[in-house]
Parts: sequence; C-alpha cells; structure tokens
Amino acid sequence: VHLSKFVHLSKFTDDPKKLNQWVTQWLINQLRELLTVLEKLFSLVFKPVNPFDFEAQEDYENYVRDNEYRTLNGELVKGYQELIIANWLCRNGIEYQYEAPYKSKRRIAEGVDYKPDFYLTEADIYLEHFGVDRHGKTRPDIDRQKYNQEMELKRNLHRECGTKLIETHHYDWVEGKLEQRLEQLMRENNVKLQPLTNDELLEKLNNSDLISTLAEVLYKSLQAIRTEQLNSDGISARLAQLDNQHANWCAAFLTRLHQSYQEALREENAIDFDDMILQAQAVIQQQRFKPKWRHILVDEFQDISAARLGLVKTLIKHGPNPTMTAVGDDWQSIYRFSGGKLEITTRFGEYLGTHSLTKLDKTFRYNNSIADTAGNFVMENPEQYKKQVETHTKVSNPQVYLLDTLIAGKPDPAGKVAKIIQAIREHAPEDSIAIICRYNYLLNDVRENLKHDAELQDGQLKNINYWTFHKSKGLEADHCILVGFFQGKVGFPNENKGHYIVETLLPTLDSFKHSEERRLFYVGLTRARKKSYLVADPHGMSAFIKEILTPKYDIAISSERFREKFQEIFKCPKCTNGYLKRHQGQYGAFYRCTTGNGCSVRPRVCSACGSPTIDHWFHSICNNPDCRGETPICDKCGRPMKQREGRYGKFWGCTGYGIKDDQCRHTRKWLP
Ligand SMILES: [Zn+2]
Ligand SMILES: [Zn+2]
Ligand SMILES: [Zn+2]
Repeated sequence: VHLSKFVHLSKFTDDPKKLNQWVTQWLINQLRELLTVLEKLFSLVFKPVNPFDFEAQEDYENYVRDNEYRTLNGELVKGYQELIIANWLCRNGIEYQYEAPYKSKRRIAEGVDYKPDFYLTEADIYLEHFGVDRHGKTRPDIDRQKYNQEMELKRNLHRECGTKLIETHHYDWVEGKLEQRLEQLMRENNVKLQPLTNDELLEKLNNSDLISTLAEVLYKSLQAIRTEQLNSDGISARLAQLDNQHANWCAAFLTRLHQSYQEALREENAIDFDDMILQAQAVIQQQRFKPKWRHILVDEFQDISAARLGLVKTLIKHGPNPTMTAVGDDWQSIYRFSGGKLEITTRFGEYLGTHSLTKLDKTFRYNNSIADTAGNFVMENPEQYKKQVETHTKVSNPQVYLLDTLIAGKPDPAGKVAKIIQAIREHAPEDSIAIICRYNYLLNDVRENLKHDAELQDGQLKNINYWTFHKSKGLEADHCILVGFFQGKVGFPNENKGHYIVETLLPTLDSFKHSEERRLFYVGLTRARKKSYLVADPHGMSAFIKEILTPKYDIAISSERFREKFQEIFKCPKCTNGYLKRHQGQYGAFYRCTTGNGCSVRPRVCSACGSPTIDHWFHSICNNPDCRGETPICDKCGRPMKQREGRYGKFWGCTGYGIKDDQCRHTRKWLP
C-alpha cells in the first residue's frame, strides 16, 4: 500500500447520489461497445430463471409478481424466455404485439379469452412459446396432460381460423438454441430480418428504463464488492454460485467496474471508507504502526462487516495482548445491505475464539407484553441468541394491538391511524406518538393524509414522529403505530428477495425465512414505552400478521376481521358447532371441544404456532390453515414419533420406547 500524506476522503463518500451518477456515466460511456453482448448484459439485470425449477405454483407466482421482466420496447412480459423472444424480435426489426387478443373470440381455456404470446403484425403470424420439454413435460405445478391438450387445441383453432401459428419451446431455451430457432422460423416463413442499426438500438436503450435499472444493479454491486473487499477471483467465485451461463462475463464486467472505480479514486487522490479500513490494517501489518491499546471496545457489534472484523483482529494481534469487549444486540441486526454480517455475532466463538458472554436482559423502556411478543417473534429464528427479557414495567393485559385498515368496510390505513391518534389523545394529550413504516413512500402518504384529516383537532398532531423501521432504531415513543403490513415486494415483510447479483455479492444471510425483516419488525415493535398498534391489511395478509395471529402470542385483537380469522383456528373440524378450548393439564396444555362428551377430539398444542393440532393415524395436523404443521405420531399408541438413527440409517421411533409399564417399541420407515 502506498500512502500519500495528502490523501483525502472521496467525494463519493458524502453523497450516494454522486456514486450513482458516476456508475451511470461509466455505463453510458461504453454502451456502444456493449451492443454486441446485449444478451449478456441483460442477464445482469434479469435473472435467467428456469420456470421448471419452481416446485409450487405459489413460488412461481410470487417470483413473477416480484421480478419485472421488461423488454427493449418497454412491455412487461411473464418470464425470461419471453423476454429473449421479444428482444430478439425487436432487435431484428420485426414488429410484434405481446399477448394481443386473437382475431376470434373462441375460448380454449375456462374463463379466459385466448391471447397468443406474440403476434407479428406485418407478417400476420402468431407465435406461441410453449413451456414444455422434449417429452412434453411441464412446470411441476402445471397439469401436464391438460397443458398438452391445450397446445393441441390452440393448433386446431389456428387451423380452423386459417391463421398461421409458429412455435418455440422451453427446451429451445434450455438447449441454448432459442434465438437460432427464431431465426430458422423467420426464414421458413419468409419474414425479413431488418436488424436495427447501432444508433437505432442505442436510442431504444436510452428511451427504456434499462439504463437506470442496470446502473442501480451496478451501483449496489459495487458497494457490496467494496464492503466485502472482493477481488476479481472473489467476484468470480460468488457469481459462479449462480445459475447464469454468462456468469464469467458478468464477473469480468463487474471487475472492470471495480477497477475503474479505484482509478477514479486515485485520480482525485482520494480514499473511501473501505480503503480506510484496508489501509489501516496494512499499515499495522507492515509494522509501520504499533497499536498500544490495552482495551478495545466495539459497539453495535451486530452490524460489523467482515472487513471491520479483520481490522479489529489485526489490532489485537499486533497490540500488547489487549482485551476486547463487544457490545451488540443480534436481535437488531438490520444493516446487511451495508456489509453487516450477523453470524460474526451469533457465531462469535467461531470467529474470535474463547470468550465469556453476558446477556443484558433487563429493559427499562417497554413492558412485559411488548417484550414477550417481540422477543418470542424474533427468537423463532434459531440463529438468534435465546434470552428472556425482564421488564421494569409489568402489565397484566396485552399492550400490542392488532387493527385492520378498514374504515366503513374500505381500506384506509391513514384514516385508521387518525382514529388511533384520536383515541390516544383522549387520555394522553401530551404523550409522544411515532408512526413507523417499512417504506418512505408509505410514511409520506400517511403524513400527508393526516395533515388534511378533517376529524383531527388542533393540537392532536403535536408530538408525532414519522420513522421508517430502519430509522427507528435507537429511538422511542410512548405509543407506536406500525403501518403497512401486507403481502408483496413493497409490503412487510418485504417479499422481494433482492437482486440476484447483488444478493450473491453481499454477506451471507442467515437462512431463516424473512430473517432480517423479522429483526426489523422486532426493532419497530420495541420502540414503544406503552403501547404498540399494528395496522394490517385484512386481505393479502402479511406473513407476519398470520404468524402473530396465533395462540402463541398474547395480543389484543381490535378488529372484527382478524378476530374471525383467529377463531377459525379453533373451529372443531369433527363436529358441527364445537370450538376447541385450551386447557392446562398435569402433563402440559391440551385442547378440548366445547361440545363436551359428544365430541371426542383431544387436540394437542402445535409446537410451531400453539394452535390445536388434530390427530390422524400417522400424523397430527395443525388446525391453523396458515400453519398446517405436521407432527408424526405413533399409529399404535398416539405418542409422538422421534427421529432415530440405527445401524441401517434413520427411522421413526415411538417416544413410548422404554416407558415403564406401558412401553411401545413401534418404529416406522424413514420417509423424509
Ligand atoms: Zn368437536
Ligand atoms: Zn400450527
Ligand atoms: Zn407407540
């Protein structure tokens, strides 16, 4: 490392917009050269997913919902393969319409008009891209026979109506021959290719959103490369984990971006924060500086990055045998996007060796109701440390309220917030209130609506704070109103997985579903000194609300809709009118039907959600439609079965094994 004495902090560090602009300019400068490798460039923006890889329909639907495939012409198409077809047609000067209505109104599938995938307007030809492999197999969630029948029906329809149909297939793409196939089809049907000139193509690109989308991906990738301190080998290794045939090209392209960035820093004789860490570490390693600190304290340890940990370890190694104290809260680790690597905290020993651990488990801010709800919720993730938080303030009733967004039957989240504020102000005109949202757009929306809400009186909007979940960390208010619980990529939990290239460059994430969003919810929920209000959408229910609406959590349900939903869990499936009520028995909790002796069900308590689970012969199945957790039970005696390992591998064994007087030695074959 060469260090100049007059080096200064880069202009990129004080304004993220400047870096974004620089990346955009870098991209635009070489756009002309990139025209020859457009498919490779596109694979940087759009993940080349194989629809056959999705096991459940829901997964595929969510994927399509959360990942936009936008063509050069600007239309939204259903998948990566359609994107390739559309862009190929566009680049070859063939005019088309995507999913235009067919000339005949005759229907093929139940309830929908027939819309061929593409209509080549000038040539008057229809193009269907069939999702089948060479053997007629379809996506796992699609009825193969029905799909193949529909293919036949489509062909017949075109024959009868005298229209020309050409076909491409999923397997053309799998075999890497989709574009070849298109070329062949055009030749066979005398469709002239008139490839766009470079200037025309550039104009298309400039008029599309592609440049800004691509620049955003590059910008985030560059940040991840910096905080993770990846060199070209590191970038290649990360991208090799992806299912992208252009991974090598993408890695080389990102490496070039990184090198250009480093040159830009050199040109302004500047360093950024990542350089600071790297260079500080190098100076110590080269023994040009000898650390003398005997005590090292790292605060907010849960957000530490691999690079920062490297510096800390270097300080320790070259110092006078110092002690180190790390203070952190793994439940509040929410900065992965800026390099935070949670497992350095949760697997402290693996990274730093022998240590002693002190759990801070007393809070003076919130009460036991909020502590239990938030704590149990975050501890669902097995990666988090387990602890029971003691609260200074004790209450006997739940202080977490669940409300829906409906006012007079119509969704109006801001209106509901106004009602809550009015209710709070009746008893506590001076208390502080915070409104917390996952996204700024929602926060601004609520704020604007409250300003113009005619029902709110003067002074009621006094002492109100507006925070995003991220910004709320470290802050507190007497009452917190959490808004924006619904499904989707701008909902909460945010179901967008993040861009696939950026994701693979960022630090590894603990694998539990919605793990960081879960911690974010914990942070938001624990901002309140007195009460937390959750305002949730009753339609398209957020996964978090489904979870919190189970007997495992003791919350106050102030919504008819949610109360009905909650009670569904307890409807007895074995008789007409009974409800399952929880009892505390000598051997733990169990449920019993209110019908009494007329109904003999004795549900257990679901270990996942606390709802009643109903015994069948081989399994007990949770009565909560959103859980449906299955517990294997013994078909001889009804006790739970346990996974055992024997001479011939795994098997299920009855937990009645070895019990005095009523032992059950029943076993079952292991079926994962
Ligand atoms: Zn019953
Ligand atoms: Zn359950
Ligand atoms: Zn048994």
